[in-house]
Amino acid sequence: MAFEGLAERLQDTIKKITGKGKVSEQDVKEMTREVRLALLEADVNFKVVKDLINRIKKRAVGQEVMESLTPGQQVIKVVKEELTELMGGEQSKIAVADRSPTVIMMVGLQGAGKTTTSGKLANLLRKKHNRNPMLVACDVYRPAAITQLQTLGKQLDMPVFSMGTDANPVDIAVKAIEKAKEQHRDYVIIDTAGRLHVDENLMNELIDIKDEVNPDEILLVVDAMTGQDAVNVAKSFDETLDITGVVLTKLDGDTRGGAALSIKAVTGKPIKFAGMGEKLDQLEPFHPDRMASRILG
Ligand code: GDP
Repeated sequence: MAFEGLAERLQDTIKKITGKGKVSEQDVKEMTREVRLALLEADVNFKVVKDLINRIKKRAVGQEVMESLTPGQQVIKVVKEELTELMGGEQSKIAVADRSPTVIMMVGLQGAGKTTTSGKLANLLRKKHNRNPMLVACDVYRPAAITQLQTLGKQLDMPVFSMGTDANPVDIAVKAIEKAKEQHRDYVIIDTAGRLHVDENLMNELIDIKDEVNPDEILLVVDAMTGQDAVNVAKSFDETLDITGVVLTKLDGDTRGGAALSIKAVTGKPIKFAGMGEKLDQLEPFHPDRMASRILG
């Protein structure tokens, strides 16, 4: 699981302060220094760490006294609240359009897990929300991508709309939505093309699809294992497309994970889901408070 290294370090730091009946300014200073190092080591963005530490310091020193907690526990509570806030605070839910179908555009670089996540999301919407989704194959550059989505559709017993590799992705998306309306499908999940790097052609194509179908969600799929690159990718997709949320994949992997913690702070966009494995039921709604608890123990 990601964040293991970070969790271990933070928990050590916390142990030192938990039992303290009195917390001096010096204690807070030492603790925040350790927290700062742990976050930097976990690859959390430098500026994000700096802001976070400043907030923790301010609150931990001047905090109100709560009788049920020792001063040490109160400092930890502050750290937990700040970490939760850093990851977006409240859980951010998937959109539901006033008029069906809700259209979700999945975007991201090749290999991030876009196609798999499209299938996982369709599965989750059906299982947990009783929805009736349709998948759409808009990656016309890689025939394998279409086949992959069709295979997922078969596994899930879910319809996949495709027009092969000769059609224009904008037309495919438009026709898919018409079809979804006819068939009373309430979610349309569009799997778009990815590239190895952010490039202008890709972005232009995504803008064209966005402008034509006016999606309710643009979810950026990013690979948590790619560290600071994930943050940069999120930044550039957001600048071009004004995404509505992020799906972090491969959080089950052995990654430092810290970059993932910076995405919300850097883009202002919430992490909505986390991919926890390759299987189709391994997508979870992202809960910032639960993740903070996991990290802090
Ligand atoms: P795309 O090119 O963005 O569409 O990426 P794919 O959906 O083809 O996924 C690339 C690889 O990542 C595949 O082998 C997936 O099984 C794998 N993958 C996707 N999500 C996860 C995840 O949450 N955890 C793990 N361990 N692997 C994942």
